[in-house]
Amino acid sequence: AKVTRFGPSPTGFVHIGGVYVSTIDKDISARSGGVYIVRVEDTDQSREVEGALAQFTRAFDYFDLRPDEGDDAAGDDTGAYGPYHQSARESIYLTYVRELLREGKAYLCFATKDELADISAKQQATKLPTGYYGRWALWRDADPAAVAAKLAEGVPYVVRFRVPDDGPSRVRFTDEIRGELEAEANRNDAVILKSSDTSPRLPTYHFAHAVDDHLMRVNQVIRGEEWISSVPLHLQLFAALGFEPVPYAHIAPLMKQIPGGKRKLSKRKDPEAGVDFYIEAGYPAAAILYYLRGLANGRLAEVPLAEALATPISLAQCGVAGPLVDLVKLEDISADHVSTLTSDQVYDAVRAWAEQYDKELGTVLDAERDLALRAIAVEREGVENPRKDLRKWSDFRAAYGFFFPALFTVLAGPTDDRVTPLGVATDVVTAFATDLADGYTHADEQPDWFNQVRDLATKHGFASSPKDFKKNPEAFPGSIREASQLVRVALTGSTRSPDLHAISQALGADEVLRRLRALA
Ligand code: GLU
Repeated sequence: AKVTRFGPSPTGFVHIGGVYVSTIDKDISARSGGVYIVRVEDTDQSREVEGALAQFTRAFDYFDLRPDEGDDAAGDDTGAYGPYHQSARESIYLTYVRELLREGKAYLCFATKDELADISAKQQATKLPTGYYGRWALWRDADPAAVAAKLAEGVPYVVRFRVPDDGPSRVRFTDEIRGELEAEANRNDAVILKSSDTSPRLPTYHFAHAVDDHLMRVNQVIRGEEWISSVPLHLQLFAALGFEPVPYAHIAPLMKQIPGGKRKLSKRKDPEAGVDFYIEAGYPAAAILYYLRGLANGRLAEVPLAEALATPISLAQCGVAGPLVDLVKLEDISADHVSTLTSDQVYDAVRAWAEQYDKELGTVLDAERDLALRAIAVEREGVENPRKDLRKWSDFRAAYGFFFPALFTVLAGPTDDRVTPLGVATDVVTAFATDLADGYTHADEQPDWFNQVRDLATKHGFASSPKDFKKNPEAFPGSIREASQLVRVALTGSTRSPDLHAISQALGADEVLRRLRALA
């Protein structure tokens, strides 16, 4: 059974890459009957943002990535290996730091900021690797009396890891995605515990993750590729602490196509890097997860969504190159997915979305549930190729808003901008309205509104086909096209719409008449 963990840092921005990695975490653990942990990595308190945890909770809820163990934004832990906030684990880390100090595997360092800046400037000037090592490691072999004097003066210090003197110069390790790797051994006496003048007294990521992964019995680390260069240090830390190293898988970052190449999806430059982009626009979580899983498997499976969601993600299939996030492709997938939903499912999803992000629409949907269900069913239910006009819930207003009297502006009469290009047919359409009012209904027995309009149009001297009109434009005021388009504009506000008969049925005869009469 795999125990995996996701380690979000609450810095106020939830990257879609985090959803990507935690999807992999959750899948790998769930399929092995294991445990998926969320551990809040808040050791960098200067970067912490108020409310950031709630944003993670919202994302985990939206994408159904709630952990088996971890804590929620309210600070409630689930699981016996907590606390799951690093900031609440100070005493645990200190125990291990003391142990390393006692064994001489770590030491106190009183180097000042200026001294450190000076060291790295000199190293850069002489093209040496930067870091705290060799003759640059000022406190590594300090006289205990000098250390005691600094302590007595109350000078702040950090604790550094003492890189073993006798270690190999190169290390080999296995990455579950990249295979066997070899790298230069770490030489830098990295800081493991931050300055003694901070409270709580927290370790750096390197140290904290080693202790936590060990104590939380994590046996598969899946994390961003940016950490791969730290593996040599991490292996040294595991050895010093006497821990079994945990197998690592480093996930390549999500990329964006830009002119002439690609780059990482950037928190600063790309709105689609943030999960809020998807949640606020109302992309169905299932479509996003389907898409991300397709990226993880190195290909977007040409299989139905339910099947793809049921197919395990395998680390071996995760690409070494970062996959491209293509919003157009994602929207297609999403539209396909939505087209397979029932009207009830679409209604419920749009309503839930609107409650948060479009209050007016939410109120209308509440008040007009039956109309909404009839509207959504148009060209969706009982047809072979359902409409694909919803890629995300925020498309609903543009695609379906006209159905609702509260969201639709009837024509302002013959002078309405929308009428002007078709104005020649005003009389035809008002005559059509009169016919309708005279008991000519929109019930099922009368699906042929088009023929009725054509009859009326020819009665008013219009060409019965656009072709006839084109051949001899002088002979007619217009053609059936203008007349039928004007009916469409009167009923939907646009010259493009789904089937008008189906729309009329959803609207009901009274509303159809009201809209047509507004033309007069
Ligand atoms: N807190 C780390 C980050 O945000 C997590 C890295 C890891 O999963 O080990 O990058």
